Amino acid sequence: MQDKTFYLYTLGCKANQYDSQVIREGLLKSGFSEAPADEAHFSIINSCTVTAQADNKARKQIRAIITRNPSSKILITGCGAKKHEDLFADSPQVVFIGGNEFKDRIVGIVNDYIENYHGMTFNFPDLNTISSDSHAVHITAFEGHTRVFVKVQDGCEAYCTYCTIPYERGDSRSREIDDVCKEVEGLAKNGFHEIVLTGIHLAQYKTNEGKLLTDLMRALVQISDVKRLRLSSLEPHDFPDDFPQLFASSDIIQPHLHLPIQSGNNNILKKMNRRYTVERYREIVAEIRRLKPDFLLTTDFIVGFPTETEERFMNSLENVLDIGFSKVHIFPFSARRGTPAEKMHGKVSKEDIRRRVKYAINETYKKAFEIKQSFIGRDFEVLVESTPEKETGNWSGFTPNYLKVQFASDANLANSFVPVQLKQVLYGDEPIMGELLHVSRI
Ligand code: SF4
Repeated sequence: MQDKTFYLYTLGCKANQYDSQVIREGLLKSGFSEAPADEAHFSIINSCTVTAQADNKARKQIRAIITRNPSSKILITGCGAKKHEDLFADSPQVVFIGGNEFKDRIVGIVNDYIENYHGMTFNFPDLNTISSDSHAVHITAFEGHTRVFVKVQDGCEAYCTYCTIPYERGDSRSREIDDVCKEVEGLAKNGFHEIVLTGIHLAQYKTNEGKLLTDLMRALVQISDVKRLRLSSLEPHDFPDDFPQLFASSDIIQPHLHLPIQSGNNNILKKMNRRYTVERYREIVAEIRRLKPDFLLTTDFIVGFPTETEERFMNSLENVLDIGFSKVHIFPFSARRGTPAEKMHGKVSKEDIRRRVKYAINETYKKAFEIKQSFIGRDFEVLVESTPEKETGNWSGFTPNYLKVQFASDANLANSFVPVQLKQVLYGDEPIMGELLHVSRI
């Protein structure tokens, strides 16, 4: 029994976080318990390779475990697994390295290690001998979260020229509607009232029977204990035509969308193989806002993609500012190995990228400030996070349109819906200051 402890380190997107929760619950069901990194007998690194920074973080964590917990056996999985092979394959502590295709066998691999290889090095096991399938597990909770992420789709066939994900996660595949509904029903009964659907390219959701994302969402809003339904992110290419109406048709579907624009310049979008134009993007946004005026958007924006001249950058940023986002995640372009963008001409110097990023952060913060300011004085229902903020002791939570709000109260409001009036916008990424209207929960 003493050998059955694990530590799980997760990097990257919400889909990866969901995968980790599946592994966690699979191991807990198998009689394991979770332990800190310095004590656990098995350490699972669920890696991400979307940026060089993510690769570095995984390496740092693996090295820290090797140094500080020499008896821990390490398993490396996720999108970045292959990248770590050269560095760690020879370490006797690293007993398994395998990509996403092996993720659903992690529980089986750990159990197999205990039964058959205890005390021996176990590099690169023969997976044919390991049958355990942790994916049969429906998650029942979500470690440290008020909102729960439910992965309904995996893989991507879009092949944006800067992205390695289609090579790491394979073609798009989707879970059946009944299967997702069963998992969500269980989560809602366990007190998770806000469900966030995640996937790698959610707009490509399509079941074997041809059911689409809109069908899935219509089924989920029927589940009585689900109070809020969100999407983690939706790509503008393949954007379903009936989506704006769907948002308008239900108050359970929250009026916020993370819609990655990546560039506001059509030439750059083409180079990125993003199959939409700025005009199409604007059309989608205008239609949603027409139907739901309080609707807010957040986005991702890459700065310094090859051939981004000063003029194209300014055109791109102007469009982004004009569309108006409550938050823009800005990424300085850095070529990922093996992608078409790596070989493109017209590279932008690091210095220019740094300067443009700084400028874009400043301008997009100002715009976000204006947008948030327009909601001051209004009352919103807030779903309160499970723990108060460390520094201030204030409670925080999100409005339906995904504004983070902070407010004071002596009552224990964890995981409840409360009415809050928005009072003051602080600059940058700080939450909006609010005032609790009354403690009786909505
Ligand atoms: S849509 Fe593009 S950026 Fe998103 S995962 Fe697919 S290839 Fe990568």
